[in-house]
Amino acid sequence: MSIQENAEQRSVPRLFIPGPVEVEDSIMQALTRPMIGHRAPEFSILGEEVHTLSQRFFRTQDPVFVLTSSGTGGMETAARCGVREKVLCFVNGAFSQRFFKVCDSNGKQATRVDVPWGEAVKPELVREELSRGDFDAVTIVHNETSTGVMNPLAEIAEVVAEFPDVFLLVDGITSAGAVPIHFDSLPPIDYLVTGSQKALALPPGLALLAVSERALERAESVENRGMYFDVLAMHKSWKKHQTPSTPTIALMQALKDRLQMILQDEDAWFGGHQEKADLVRGWAQGAFKLFAEPGYESVSLTCIENTPGISIADLNGFLREHGMFLSNGYGDLKEKTFRITHMGAISMADTEELLGLIDEFVAKS
Ligand SMILES: *Cc1c(COP(=O)(O)O)cnc(C)c1O
Repeated sequence: MSIQENAEQRSVPRLFIPGPVEVEDSIMQALTRPMIGHRAPEFSILGEEVHTLSQRFFRTQDPVFVLTSSGTGGMETAARCGVREKVLCFVNGAFSQRFFKVCDSNGKQATRVDVPWGEAVKPELVREELSRGDFDAVTIVHNETSTGVMNPLAEIAEVVAEFPDVFLLVDGITSAGAVPIHFDSLPPIDYLVTGSQKALALPPGLALLAVSERALERAESVENRGMYFDVLAMHKSWKKHQTPSTPTIALMQALKDRLQMILQDEDAWFGGHQEKADLVRGWAQGAFKLFAEPGYESVSLTCIENTPGISIADLNGFLREHGMFLSNGYGDLKEKTFRITHMGAISMADTEELLGLIDEFVAKS
């Protein structure tokens, strides 16, 4: 897999940012298939294919809903339908803070537990905090895109399982697709959200949502589920391989192709992410430093501490002259860190090219 062959002819730079990511031509072509009616028999075929592939992708018998929304819509569904009253939100970066805000703004009693940015949420902390109150749900971001930290999901889920009434809501937006997530073999997860423009390497516009059986049961007694993000409406349509409202059919075609491609050779797909992550981590430990706590470095992206104090804005200006760009640090981490993605249609050679250019920039800074 590599960036479009016609790289020289591109008028836009290549994306080394953690979303949206590069999408190769062969997948983009799926977007041009003829339009079909979303209540026509043709759609049921596409719906069934996509639903079955999504379940295979997450290794689950539970339903996986395909939402026409960005990832945040999946988070909103989990918050609205998965929380009865009180939710505990672990915050170790910008996106876990977003999950807290999503819960809070949907009228749930949300309590946040802050962990320093760059550090992981540890299972012991989850146990300690859950013991303090009568929470009915917990939110966690598996991979914090703002800090390049991957939280230990399986260990956290194991701890949450010690509290049978507490449901686990997981933002896997930049993890599902970068690392395998086997929904049914993990300790129970109730909502698992992902988004198309991150580790699934598709254009933006879709969220995938795996939901446990007990979460569907609980939703029946949760009030104010709204309409667009009502998980029970999604479930009802899903049984007919449909969606409650008009889905983004073109993107579902691309999702079908992407999932088929991943499932054909999962080792190559996931191995490719790890290989790029290893390359960038090794390189960064020379002139720079990794921002993530050791042992919790993300496979999806690497967040690098700007130890030599170069201008990241100028670095990006230089990279743009060479037809690419990366991400500056998020929020307060701007100029203090920068981020390189391992998601999307970029090869090892593309990544090596980027690193070579950064070296060149640092040498003349
Ligand atoms: C990008 C991102 C989101 C937000 O997703 P949208 O698709 O922009 O709504 C949420 N969580 C994480 C971890 C992300 O990386």
